[in-house]
Amino acid sequence: MKSILAVYPGTFDPFTNGHQDILERALKIFPRMIVAVSGNPEKAPLFTLEERMEIIRDAVRDMQGVRVDPFHTLLVDYVKTQGAAVVIRGLRAISDFEYEFQMALMNRRIAEDIETVFLMPHEAYTYLSSRLVKEVALLGGTVKGLVSPVVERMLRERYRQRKSGKR
Ligand code: ADP
Repeated sequence: MKSILAVYPGTFDPFTNGHQDILERALKIFPRMIVAVSGNPEKAPLFTLEERMEIIRDAVRDMQGVRVDPFHTLLVDYVKTQGAAVVIRGLRAISDFEYEFQMALMNRRIAEDIETVFLMPHEAYTYLSSRLVKEVALLGGTVKGLVSPVVERMLRERYRQRKSGKR
């Protein structure tokens, strides 16, 4: 039997060690995964879609069975076009629950045959979010151990550009 294809969607602005943790856990259950990076411009991301995808491609380069792909449509439509059946989401704390619950039920309403699977990260990452990483880095703080060295460097560069008024 062919294994189920799962999609892990997100903005990943930027991809953190918490995202990586969820991806690794998901891979143990679903050996074929797509990390789907949202191209939704309304989120006004710090990193471009290309940059965010490059960061993830670098993070998954030694993992078997993972593909990185952009998506611009309704998530469930994207999942269907890929022939996937499962959406993976991370749950950090109760605060994630309400939003994720709403999303999962809305997606089920639109596409009944797609299931959302929630995974919990290692407790070391339960307080970690892309938003917090950006806030700390853009104020000149260290985010070592929370993101890959590549992301650390890119955040530092962006911080420098901001300070010199280039972006
Ligand atoms: P979105 O804009 O779709 O929420 P994110 O990139 O912020 O995109 O998050 C993608 C998914 O990863 C979400 O399900 C989110 O709950 C989960 N996630 C984000 N950070 C962590 C973390 N530190 N630990 C576990 N899951 C996380």
